[in-house]
Amino acid sequence: GIGYSNLTLQPEDSIFRLFGEFMADSSPDAINLSIGAYRGNDGKPWVLPVVKKAKEILLRDPQANHEYLPLEGLTSFNEAAAKLILGENSPAILEKRYAAVQTVSGTGANRIAAEFFAKFRPSATVYITNPTWGNHKKIFMAAGLPIIEYEYWNPKTRSINHAQVLATLKTALPGSIFLLHACAHNPTGLDPTHRQWQEIADIMESRNLNPFFDCAYQGFASGDLDTDAWAVRYFVVRGFNVICAQSFSKNFGLYAERTGCLVGIFGDEEVARMAKSQFAYLLRCSISHAPGFGANIVDIVFKNEALVREWKENLKEMSTRISQMREKVVQLLVELKTPGDWSHITSQIGMFSYTGLTMPQVAAIKMKFHVYMTDEGRASMAGLNEKNVENFAKAVDWVVR
Ligand code: PLP
Repeated sequence: GIGYSNLTLQPEDSIFRLFGEFMADSSPDAINLSIGAYRGNDGKPWVLPVVKKAKEILLRDPQANHEYLPLEGLTSFNEAAAKLILGENSPAILEKRYAAVQTVSGTGANRIAAEFFAKFRPSATVYITNPTWGNHKKIFMAAGLPIIEYEYWNPKTRSINHAQVLATLKTALPGSIFLLHACAHNPTGLDPTHRQWQEIADIMESRNLNPFFDCAYQGFASGDLDTDAWAVRYFVVRGFNVICAQSFSKNFGLYAERTGCLVGIFGDEEVARMAKSQFAYLLRCSISHAPGFGANIVDIVFKNEALVREWKENLKEMSTRISQMREKVVQLLVELKTPGDWSHITSQIGMFSYTGLTMPQVAAIKMKFHVYMTDEGRASMAGLNEKNVENFAKAVDWVVR
């Protein structure tokens, strides 16, 4: 046929490739620390008990149907999502200075935000941390925005390179957008302290830089919804126009349902109304509107105080199990007298540990111990459990000696 002579094979997405390799590994000892999805202590995916209940309520609802939603998605879900990130009594909510639309999970919220910036901040450069979530660069490049990466991780101290963060802010091109992780920075698991956020905000304010928050782990990181929303709320209180991408994949365990929200907080109601109309337009020409099922589940929980309480318990259970695995790994490495200081594993939070293992070390433990983690040494701690944590510690011990 004619055409397509320019087609090339797109290399597979590295995370999904790694997950595929794990699935093809027949060893009973294989440990999957690749993809960021929660597992219970039995190593299996966990359907949150609160989600099971909400599903039953939805199934029994005689009014439930399969009609189209408005372009903005499920309105009550959007309002509740905005309240979740901003706080029930946020002035931005009370003064209706926000615009919230349903998106195809966190990925879709990032993408709509990127297209919004490309359209209304066309000369802005987007600053992202190195490292960051693997999809950030792809999404913002796909929207045609220039990207600058800056060092976030100091490999020597295994902590944030805060001096570099501040230096980058001080010299950033005027009017730039800074992509900030609201909590549980992926992949390092390291967030600025309150004091450091304050320093970041001071420079951003004086230099007219714009924050874009990606919030994929609210409630999942610390186990507390308000703690994990602190940074976003702080920037809102300081009067920034804040755009925030929310994902409900991790905190509701709704990965395949693609449940998310894009929230913008502005100076007044009129600007917010215009922004919402633009978000809706961008949704219309890409997906029309986001899928209903996951949003309905979340909405049912938000509308029921008892279910909200249960959700918070489920969140605690997930975050507690992950912290326990972090502690267990460090304890085992101490017992094994593994060379080096491993305390960063417990000082990092959220789904991931940025272990500091090098690419050859990661490759070696995959070969010998069937441990699957990303090339840059990121381990999804949810993949550890009481049965496999010792093997993981032994693998790390072996490879660093
Ligand atoms: N942003 C960050 C930082 C993430 O880690 C993730 C998921 O791993 C996402 C966004 C989006 O995920 P989803 O599209 O499943 O909501």
